[in-house]
Amino acid sequence: MVEVAVEEATGIKTRKEAVVATSELETNRRLGRWRMQREAQKLLPAERVAFCMRHMKSTAVDIMYSSAFKSAHYNGLMVCGSVWVCPLCAAKISERRRIELEQAISSWVASGGAVYLATYTIAHKHYDDLPELLQSFLTARKKARQGRAAQEIRKQFGIVGTVSVREVTWSKQNGWHPHCHELVFCTSEIAIEEYDKVVCERWRKSVEREGLSINEHGFRLDRTYGAVGDYVAKFGREPMRAPWSTATELTKGHLKQGRGEEHLTPFAMLGLIAQGRDELKPVFRQYAQCFKGKHQLVWSSGLRALLMKDVEEISDEELAQEPEQEEEVLLGQLSRDQWRTVLANEARGKLLEVARSGDWELVQAFLVDIDIGYKVSSMLLGYTTRMVSPPDPGNYNSNDPKVLIQELEDPFQDYNEVMCKMFKHDGSFLNSTMGKMN
Ligand SMILES: [Zn+2]
Repeated sequence: MVEVAVEEATGIKTRKEAVVATSELETNRRLGRWRMQREAQKLLPAERVAFCMRHMKSTAVDIMYSSAFKSAHYNGLMVCGSVWVCPLCAAKISERRRIELEQAISSWVASGGAVYLATYTIAHKHYDDLPELLQSFLTARKKARQGRAAQEIRKQFGIVGTVSVREVTWSKQNGWHPHCHELVFCTSEIAIEEYDKVVCERWRKSVEREGLSINEHGFRLDRTYGAVGDYVAKFGREPMRAPWSTATELTKGHLKQGRGEEHLTPFAMLGLIAQGRDELKPVFRQYAQCFKGKHQLVWSSGLRALLMKDVEEISDEELAQEPEQEEEVLLGQLSRDQWRTVLANEARGKLLEVARSGDWELVQAFLVDIDIGYKVSSMLLGYTTRMVSPPDPGNYNSNDPKVLIQELEDPFQDYNEVMCKMFKHDGSFLNSTMGKMN
């Protein structure tokens, strides 16, 4: 499946070329997450994401390596566990949720049940006020599922429960567009047309009561996923998993890049902000504020107990803390100074790419490279290559170099900002710091 996707994207035909292109795509995707997270950190300096995978928990950062997966990860850094605003944590959390959902779907289908994917949306109009719109949307969803009529629908179609996930996209033309995907667990195959008619009508009424409206796309029961038995049967046999399964659709919607620029997912926004699209910054901030503390994935009451009897539900924060791979070994450790150099060079992602070789000497060579490059450019170019905006003195007391030293030591500080302040200094501080670094 991945090779087909690569061929579509690149026109590459041979298997070898496809493997290389796939690996490049994967590398870019991984590095892209680090860049997007960095943007989120700058946009939300007071949120947990600001120190995610930056702030050290102790005196060293471990580089963990898995030879089985040819992968590398950090250990010993704080993580935020925010599925909404942190592309790194979201990728990890979503992957775990996907595995869990696949287990649930698999066990339900194995016991003779059927699972469908439903999508609830509203008509595209221009909505600017996300908090108000989201509230109306969620109220409409809640009311559509309450009451005797909803109970009758559940009974009529043998619905034992649902798992739903909230999503939102944004476009310049239409503003915010919240929607919801829902896995519907039924005791057996259902009459799809009948369900479509009944539920769509109920959704339309509920939406209109909240002052919103739907069009012909307001409700969709995905027939492709009408019976997921085929998919589940394939799962585990294919060396490369299908990139977009039912469970993936549900857990990773916000990771999608969005089609073109029409409807941007929040993470696609971060990607564009990284490319200089500053007008999207307030849009992302509004989204972050609005979704903070909300659950991404919600199991209807009793369903989890029915399908995942012995599996305790783990919070997003706990999932984000879990080790990446069980087979990982310690490849090496970075000191506080080395980690500082990595941060200063925005090289967190690149270093892991080097570490994927499993060769610690290559990692050390990479560290030396960026450290030397950094010092040379710092001294010769006066930090100008590192500055993205004119220096802002803020509360900095230029008479007190101690403030700068403290800021330099503090992993919460934006390194670029501290560098800007150092550049403004008369130089005495710079000399003492470079002496310290050496
Ligand atoms: Zn995070």
